[in-house]
Amino acid sequence: MTFRSSILTLYPEMFPGFLGESLSGKALERGDWSLDTIQIRDFATDRHRSVDDTPAGGGAGMVLRPDVLARAIDSVADDGRPRLLMSPRGRPLTQSRVRELAAADGAVIVCGRFEGVDQRVIDSRGLEEVSIGDYILSGGEPAAMILLDAIIRVLPGVMGNPESGTHESFENGLLEHPHFTRPQVFEDMQIPAVLTSGNHAKIEKWRLEEARKLTAERRPDLIQPVTK
Ligand code: SAH
Repeated sequence: MTFRSSILTLYPEMFPGFLGESLSGKALERGDWSLDTIQIRDFATDRHRSVDDTPAGGGAGMVLRPDVLARAIDSVADDGRPRLLMSPRGRPLTQSRVRELAAADGAVIVCGRFEGVDQRVIDSRGLEEVSIGDYILSGGEPAAMILLDAIIRVLPGVMGNPESGTHESFENGLLEHPHFTRPQVFEDMQIPAVLTSGNHAKIEKWRLEEARKLTAERRPDLIQPVTK
């Protein structure tokens, strides 16, 4: 099955960008996912092909016009794929949402620019706003690529060893334990003895303890309060 992505953007030449390399690049060649970019400007109708206008009520910057963006969205067949809008106001992306999205047939992803997009098109086209974190990018394209990268790596058959996906940070609600590899001694520091003991039960226990410690220290927000 192919995860079909349709990207609405003013900068289609930014794609596939880094997604054309490495794991996601090979997956694209194999057809595990596909990419269709739609130039929003192609749906402008005025002489200047304008896609933005000044904010109603005044203020800085420009806003993506709803009529132009709606025509661009309507040019993509409504086949049940989720319609997402990259937006700092959206629900922050999580690994569990990534897994849900990866289980769908694909996604239609709108990349914002300027101050954002007219609220009416968000409402009328049922766009789900997705944020990749609490900071502001200059456009939705890098955010869309990050979202796609996270989705592609969990598609069936993309990752060489499916095991390596399930032990990752966030997959079990914890940050991952620290990693070590050869050489045995690096700048006078040894690999923790338990990891070279060959005792798999002990190794698993150590890793879980380390993961819990690290999560409590760095991301206490990830640890669910025990409900009585
Ligand atoms: N004025 C807006 C920010 C606009 S940034 C505000 O204060 O909320 C321009 C575009 O970049 C947005 O429309 C969105 O598509 C994208 N973008 C910026 N930051 C993002 C983030 N953290 N997550 C997802 N998309 C983001």
